[in-house]
Amino acid sequence: ALPEEGGVRLAFDDGSVRTADVVVGADGIHSTVRETLNTDAPVFSGLGIYRGLVPVTALPPAARERLVRLWLGPGGHFVCYPVASGAYLSYAATVPLASGTPPRESWSRPGDPEALRGVFGAWSGLVADVVAAVDATHLWALYDRPPLRAWSTDRITLLGDAAHPMLPFMAQGANQAIEDAMDLAACLTGAGAEEMPARLARYEAMRIPRTAEIQRGSRGNAGILHLADGPAQRRRDAQMAVHAALRDRTALYAHETGRSVVPAAEPVAAG
Ligand SMILES: Cc1cc2nc3c(=O)[nH]c(=O)nc-3n(C[C@H](O)[C@H](O)[C@H](O)COP(=O)(O)OP(=O)(O)OC[C@H]3O[C@@H](n4cnc5c(N)ncnc54)[C@H](O)[C@@H]3O)c2cc1C
Repeated sequence: ALPEEGGVRLAFDDGSVRTADVVVGADGIHSTVRETLNTDAPVFSGLGIYRGLVPVTALPPAARERLVRLWLGPGGHFVCYPVASGAYLSYAATVPLASGTPPRESWSRPGDPEALRGVFGAWSGLVADVVAAVDATHLWALYDRPPLRAWSTDRITLLGDAAHPMLPFMAQGANQAIEDAMDLAACLTGAGAEEMPARLARYEAMRIPRTAEIQRGSRGNAGILHLADGPAQRRRDAQMAVHAALRDRTALYAHETGRSVVPAAEPVAAG
């Protein structure tokens, strides 16, 4: 995507070329549109996450409870919850990945169920039951990028992981992409091509502080969730016991999106 007089010129792999008033790069952590604005690269976290589904029929009755469960341990953590109307339990098991060449970020890389059991097979409660029942799993290498100070030009902007890829430890990546879309739509409502630079600047100013804080919080959570046993871990557990409820996290969950930035039209005087 290259800015040019009167718009942005887009060249596609099939040889076609288009010109647009504005381009929104919503093309994920490896964003091609971001590359036209920045030279940074995804940063490997040193962590990987095994993900998959287990039929609840292969698990003890406790797996049928409609709960999100979380186990924390030194260096890793395990989350599971029912999906597909309770037919399956979805699990996500975070582990350190061996040093060396970091694996490329991919949602389709197979993992080794025996390696998963090697880490979590002796964990308590449902964790051991779930990993014992796994016959196929995926292993996802976790990447993010540092927050940007700016992600728009006069005619190009970014949205979602293209703008602010984050580690999944606040479960906010897709949520923030949706918030971006709501705020961008509000900013662009009623705008002519000549107003685009100001509207994109407004969108960026609305979104960068919030998403940057969540990117940093998600990185910070990796350390907090994986504390070794000791006083810091006991303080974390005590705090989580008090502040786990959604009502204690209104800054995250009660955020209002899609606020109009266009001043209401002056009423036309009658007569
Ligand atoms: C393990 C894990 C767990 C997660 N858990 C949560 C969670 O619980 N809650 C949450 O909110 N988020 C979670 N996320 C984050 C969430 O998945 C992402 O933040 C979200 O998918 C980002 O959406 P996006 O549309 O910005 O990017 P993507 O979903 O990456 O979509 C980008 C799209 O652009 C396309 N594309 C890329 N390049 C090009 C190109 N050159 N031309 C055309 N198309 C292109 C891609 O094919 C893709 O379809 C998790 C992520 C991971 C890895």
